[in-house]
Amino acid sequence: MGNVLAICEYSGAALRSSALSNLSFARAAATAHGGEVIIALIGAGANAASGHAAKYAGKVIVVEDGALEHYLAESYAPIIARLAKDNGASIVTATATSLGKDVMPRVAALLDAGMASDISKLEGSNKFVRPILAGNAYSTVEISTPIICVTVRQSEFEPAGEAGGAGTVSTAPVGEINLFGASFVRAETQKSDRPDLGDAKVVVAGGRGMKNGENFKVLEQLADLLGAAMGASRAATDAGMVPADWQVGQTGKIVAPNLYFAVAISGAIQHLAGMKGSKTIVAINKNKDEPIFQVADYGVVMEWEKAVPELISEIKKVKASR
Ligand SMILES: Cc1cc2nc3c(=O)[nH]c(=O)nc-3n(C[C@H](O)[C@H](O)[C@H](O)COP(=O)(O)OP(=O)(O)OC[C@H]3O[C@@H](n4cnc5c(N)ncnc54)[C@H](O)[C@@H]3O)c2cc1C
Repeated sequence: MGNVLAICEYSGAALRSSALSNLSFARAAATAHGGEVIIALIGAGANAASGHAAKYAGKVIVVEDGALEHYLAESYAPIIARLAKDNGASIVTATATSLGKDVMPRVAALLDAGMASDISKLEGSNKFVRPILAGNAYSTVEISTPIICVTVRQSEFEPAGEAGGAGTVSTAPVGEINLFGASFVRAETQKSDRPDLGDAKVVVAGGRGMKNGENFKVLEQLADLLGAAMGASRAATDAGMVPADWQVGQTGKIVAPNLYFAVAISGAIQHLAGMKGSKTIVAINKNKDEPIFQVADYGVVMEWEKAVPELISEIKKVKASR
């Protein structure tokens, strides 16, 4: 039995909404383990988010250092492992984002801990349910090591609410960093004013049926009207129509927005694995027999060339009338 160390990602002065799902799991795990939730904020600028984080847990630990300006699993993993030991953690948890999936197996190795990845449910104190076979089945894993590492599927845990108090904030040193020969070379990112795909409340995604990258511009217009993030199927990203980091699905990002538009996407099981947790799904597809319509709340059987401009025009009219 022990505490739950929750590794929380942040953006500026606020926790990311993906971190709030992690905290929802962390609270349940802390109750099961008879301990408390401790939030760890690691990286350059971490302290800026500490005030927000303190609204969600009784204890926040900040590790901020210029050496952490660029994320590298090799530098973060030893810090997390040390914080886990120093703070009596029996569970170390992160959201199953790119960072969480990258760093947590290394943390588990350093702690000699069992690991449950991409979990959808906590059952008892050391049993975890996780989707397998692209979400077609669930397996229950039981872990018996004294410390357990977990990554949490964001779409399966409601974001935690504020705890109703202000937690204490302390700092911990970065310690000695051994990068084992790794070094930061450069980050290639797409600059965008749109929300992060993992955090967005609305996502507009396009598939192979969009035919080319130029045609995605009409989806971007729709996204910008709705303050949405852009997403895509793997067929669209693999064909180079849009950037790879727009990919939603089993081998892309897992998203759970309030509203998900799937435009010219057939609904292959690997795509559904990344978006079927969305609250409302709107599918636009010219073929009424496509599997996307089995998960859609609203289906439009129409060519996107006609449906999307009409939708944009109607949204503009509604906005203008307000
Ligand atoms: C191991 C593995 C992992 C994978 N991981 C992922 C993943 O993470 N994410 C993912 O998306 N896929 C993934 N895939 C690929 C997946 O199996 C599908 O191939 C892919 O999702 C298909 O993308 P799509 O729906 O855009 O294309 P298609 O299946 O080709 O569908 C195109 C759709 O566009 C419609 N369409 C065509 N023209 C129009 C038009 N003018 N107007 C309206 N509709 C139109 C068609 O009716 C069709 O439904 C993975 C596959 C494997 C094997």
